[in-house]
Amino acid sequence: MDIESLPINSLPDIGEIWQKTLNWQPTNLQQNQFQQLYQLIITGNRQLNLTRITEPDEFWEKHLWDSLRGIAPKQQFIPGIEKGKRIIDIGTGAGFPGIPISLVFPDSQVTLLDSTRKKITFIEEILSTLALSNTQTLLGRAEEIGQENKHRQHYDLAVIRAVSNVSVCAEYSLPLVKKGGLVVIYRGNWTEAENQSLEDAVIQLGGVIELIEEFSTPLSNSIRHCLYLRKVANTPISFPRAVGIPTQKPI
Ligand code: SAH
Repeated sequence: MDIESLPINSLPDIGEIWQKTLNWQPTNLQQNQFQQLYQLIITGNRQLNLTRITEPDEFWEKHLWDSLRGIAPKQQFIPGIEKGKRIIDIGTGAGFPGIPISLVFPDSQVTLLDSTRKKITFIEEILSTLALSNTQTLLGRAEEIGQENKHRQHYDLAVIRAVSNVSVCAEYSLPLVKKGGLVVIYRGNWTEAENQSLEDAVIQLGGVIELIEEFSTPLSNSIRHCLYLRKVANTPISFPRAVGIPTQKPI
């Protein structure tokens, strides 16, 4: 893709907000990569209808900031994440939260999973344009990938945003992480009923709820919840169930 020739606005460069909210600031290289990513997504969007979020401030907040805030509980990046951790983004769509994570942690090994071929094909173009050699794509359904030896209990960290209801997210993600590993489920609002259904699900899947964090986004002040699940026991082999069952009959 010829990304230089496109008339696309600049993303905000808000080092201060990064610093205040994440105790971190992007390097110039990372800021440039964010801008390139934005341009690639906007261009791809013209054909593929990947995301509703196209204005620069909104892209910065809902795609870049939000992706990274999720892996920074209590405003600090998860310890050790920079050192070769295996990370899987389940239902990555146009690459969120996985691509920003992979840009900021070039020594991590990131797998971007999605069941839609056109999204995976698009992401592959992004990865090659941004030369993200630490990142690979995986085409498939979380229900099947979670039963494959190559992937089951293989990851240190799983992230999942805007894929399904919370017990489905838990069923897709917990089988894929190692014992001791962490799952981050990104949510907007959070209700008591969801809390109960999450508790029921994690018990069956070998996890515990380690932390539920509520915060607001820095530009539009929108509400967010991130759920941090620790895997403490092997997930029974009956999970994840066959394709479609988790959504049809949530735990
Ligand atoms: N995480 C992205 C995209 C959310 S849209 C974001 O927050 O912007 C949900 C994505 O999950 C879609 O791209 C869809 O193809 C994918 N998806 C839904 N169910 C899936 C499953 N069972 N396995 C793998 N991917 C799935």
